[in-house]
Amino acid sequence: MKVYADNAATTQMSKTAINAMLPYFDNIYGNPSSLYTIGQEAKEALENARNRIAACLGCTPREITFTSGGSEADNQAIRSAALNGAKKGKKHIITTAFEHHAVLHTLKRLEGEGFEVTYLDVRHNHNITAQQVKDAIRPDTCLVTTMYANNEIGSILPIPEIGEICREAGVVFHTDAVQAAGHLPINVVDQHIDMLSLSAHKFHGPKGVGVLYCRKGIPLTSLIDGGAQERGKRAGTENVAGICGMAAALEEACANMEENTKKVTALRDKLIAGLSQIPHSALNGDPVHRLPGNVSFCFEGIEGESLLLLLDQKGISASSGSACTSGSLDPSHVLLAIGRVHDVAHGSLRLSLSEYNTEEEINHILKSVPEVVSYLRGMSPVWRDLQTGKRQYIL
Ligand SMILES: *Cc1c(COP(=O)(O)O)cnc(C)c1O
Repeated sequence: MKVYADNAATTQMSKTAINAMLPYFDNIYGNPSSLYTIGQEAKEALENARNRIAACLGCTPREITFTSGGSEADNQAIRSAALNGAKKGKKHIITTAFEHHAVLHTLKRLEGEGFEVTYLDVRHNHNITAQQVKDAIRPDTCLVTTMYANNEIGSILPIPEIGEICREAGVVFHTDAVQAAGHLPINVVDQHIDMLSLSAHKFHGPKGVGVLYCRKGIPLTSLIDGGAQERGKRAGTENVAGICGMAAALEEACANMEENTKKVTALRDKLIAGLSQIPHSALNGDPVHRLPGNVSFCFEGIEGESLLLLLDQKGISASSGSACTSGSLDPSHVLLAIGRVHDVAHGSLRLSLSEYNTEEEINHILKSVPEVVSYLRGMSPVWRDLQTGKRQYIL
């Protein structure tokens, strides 16, 4: 049995999204900047996609800039807000300790350029509170950037509350909503969001295309110089097919959100209940405010990498920590940020589900994971030391 349980890394494209793209690889290959008919047809498709995406987010089409994905949108939002802050002598930024590297590495670079960054503690409930943001805001704060939902451990942050605090304080609020878009309700007006990043391949759309929403009146600078595409905010011939696929996928995800959430949450809760039975294990992430598809555990006395390889042999695609860090020996910065010690963080497993998963697949996971964990513990010198009392259990 093949089970794809790594939907936080990427998703299978929906048939609707694939079909929405095909004409723009085929007949309608014109450049949207060209004045003749097939160029204008491509331009029309582009603007139609922009309108539909804006409707899904509750903003106006002019507030949408198309990018190459979530990473680029995060970079542009943060760089832009930092640049505007610096012009006013404001060089303090607030974020959380468990952001995606697209955010953390952009901020690291800004620290080298004289910005000061506050990383909010995420150990309590594996989440932050809006009060933590409020307490961290200073007169020189130019930006608050917190993710909408965490890609590794599934915690959903209190976005409307953070938005309200930032709006009152006159601080720009950006959210990396890559894990939320198409999965959780978004309305940038009601939620007081100034800037928002999303990426199509996390909701059954194509890879290499995303959106940066930037509220009217907030200046946005381009990272890429060139032509006048995207009203000068992002040069380069538009990814017409990708953008059309993204619009179709987002509309489809939003139309079916309620039904998908119900289905996926039930699968998730069955998995969590089953895997919690494994001795010396712990659930990572906020147990209450949690993405419908996220299951993240640490198992003491094993190596996540070995677990993944053995699960792969049983047809299960899963992840340990984030896709970006697998292949490196450092444990996930997210697991360390929530307070897991190195040894425990190394024994992590993330299963991220979508509405394409079935009950039979969940049963296959529930049979396979405990078997593999027992097998690995049976060979582990660390596990032997834990059992003989030479080493203390942490979980
Ligand atoms: C996947 C992801 C990104 C990066 O998006 P890309 O389109 O792959 O560049 C950023 N933030 C979060 C939370 C993600 O899950």
